[in-house]
Amino acid sequence: MNVPQRGGCLCGAVRFTLSSAPAVQGVSHCRDCQKVSGATHQTQLAVPADGIELSGETRAYARPADSGNVVTRHFCVRCGSPVQSTNSSMPGMVFLRATHLDDPEAFVPAMEVYTASRPSWGGRFATPVSFEKMPPSDALPV
Ligand SMILES: [Zn+2]
Repeated sequence: MNVPQRGGCLCGAVRFTLSSAPAVQGVSHCRDCQKVSGATHQTQLAVPADGIELSGETRAYARPADSGNVVTRHFCVRCGSPVQSTNSSMPGMVFLRATHLDDPEAFVPAMEVYTASRPSWGGRFATPVSFEKMPPSDALPV
């Protein structure tokens, strides 16, 4: 992905600029991502926190993932868009939604995770690798 990339929430109150290319671009079909996104999957851009500049007020909701790691999701306080999240097992990384990029075509998903949770009618992707659950970190295509 070329940088910088810009994006933001539905109402425009939250805006971000990526100055670092994502370490991982992927799609998660886990149940939590489904409920947060309202779709069968959620897009993920894993970006070093110092490579993101974010403005606008967000509200956070923290919940343990099935791994036991705590995922903290940040939503625009005005429109509720799920802008970004962090994971307690990966300090220093921020997960942004590729759907929020001003240019969504910049997103090239390299992996799918939690395909076991994808409903039969859910979206499918031609990614090089996919995993039924969350793979160990040394299996990630980083
Ligand atoms: Zn908003």
